[in-house]
Amino acid sequence: MNESMMGKELTALVIGGGPAGIEAALKIACGGYRVVLVEKESEPGGLLRKLYSSFPRWENPSDRIGWMVDDLKRNKQIEISLESTVESVARTDNGFNVTLKNTATGGARTIDVQAVVLATGFGLMDLSAYGEYGHGIYPGVLNSLEFEERLREWSRGLGKAPKAVALIQCVGSRDRSKGYPYCSKVCCMYSAKQAGVVKDLFPEAKVYVFYIDCRAAGKGYEEFLREVIEKKHVRYVRGRPAKVLPDGGRLLVRAEDTLIGIPVEFTADVVVLAAAVVPHPETAALAKMFGAPVDEYGFIDHDLRSHAKCADRVFFAGGCGFAVDTESALSQGAAAAAEVIALFNGNG
Ligand SMILES: Cc1cc2nc3c(=O)[nH]c(=O)nc-3n(C[C@H](O)[C@H](O)[C@H](O)COP(=O)(O)OP(=O)(O)OC[C@H]3O[C@@H](n4cnc5c(N)ncnc54)[C@H](O)[C@@H]3O)c2cc1C
Ligand code: SF4
Repeated sequence: MNESMMGKELTALVIGGGPAGIEAALKIACGGYRVVLVEKESEPGGLLRKLYSSFPRWENPSDRIGWMVDDLKRNKQIEISLESTVESVARTDNGFNVTLKNTATGGARTIDVQAVVLATGFGLMDLSAYGEYGHGIYPGVLNSLEFEERLREWSRGLGKAPKAVALIQCVGSRDRSKGYPYCSKVCCMYSAKQAGVVKDLFPEAKVYVFYIDCRAAGKGYEEFLREVIEKKHVRYVRGRPAKVLPDGGRLLVRAEDTLIGIPVEFTADVVVLAAAVVPHPETAALAKMFGAPVDEYGFIDHDLRSHAKCADRVFFAGGCGFAVDTESALSQGAAAAAEVIALFNGNG
């Protein structure tokens, strides 16, 4: 006999309303179970709401997430709790007593849930460790997420058109001295996308990408990168710039082209830093409340027997586990939902 047949209506709590959390919520609801989705912002959608375009198909990410949010809001099995987060958790015999806090009103309420999906996503590292690039000092130096907003403004005709843009990859990532030895996986692709968008908006602009390696492993990714280089004429320079300096209202990027072994200088209006992907600081605290393990960086770790399970009745999906592209976040959301449904059906 499954848990619902024992006379109790089963509810899953999904924490985080980005693509991973929304996909998990929609699929659990499809399975016939109730969902409470908690999102700390005033709108669901996660990072996709902030992106201007997306690899590998140059789609408008707001369209895609907009359709998902519409489905979410229409679904009667799903209750959405915005501007809310988890304040405390107590384990019960078959689940959890979870106290949710509304950060706008300060109000709190406690709900009973029988499974949890953590889907809190990732953020970008604080770039103050890279004083040599001047983020936070020179207004033209932006991190990749800030640059998505700049692209959006440019596309609306706002702001001054750039004559030149430099994008620097692997900032923080693969740098043991800064504590992020891993590859952040998505930044080669989103840097290529951003460089390509600049050329679409301003065909006369010079666009340079400084790279160490180009990692484009995914369906259509290599072709996307080739299109950016060969059809949109973005220049790729192999080398990590040593310094960004102010230069008469513009920015001077100093680097070494390591393929030909000569120093290069490039003057740009905007310098974009592809900062290392990091977990949100509250993810580790949430994981602890639910008894889920985190790795040395604070990303959620999975149970060896399942890639979506991290503790008894606790599952996770998307960027809170590590850097993911949107397709993977969606697949992981669906996988977490399948685990919850199997548990509720008595097969988990
Ligand atoms: C600059 C940049 C460009 C990118 N471009 C692309 C692209 O072109 N194509 C592509 O495939 N991928 C791209 N990505 C990756 C894409 O953004 C991610 O794959 C996707 O957003 C991951 O979804 P997610 O649901 O795991 O996390 P998120 O989208 O980050 O969503 C997590 C949600 O959880 C909420 N949350 C966090 N903590 C709490 C809490 N404690 N309580 C309640 N809610 C909480 C957040 O507010 C957020 O809404 C890009 C990423 C960046 C940084
Ligand atoms: S994905 Fe590319 S830019 Fe990002 S850390 Fe890995 S190699 Fe560097």
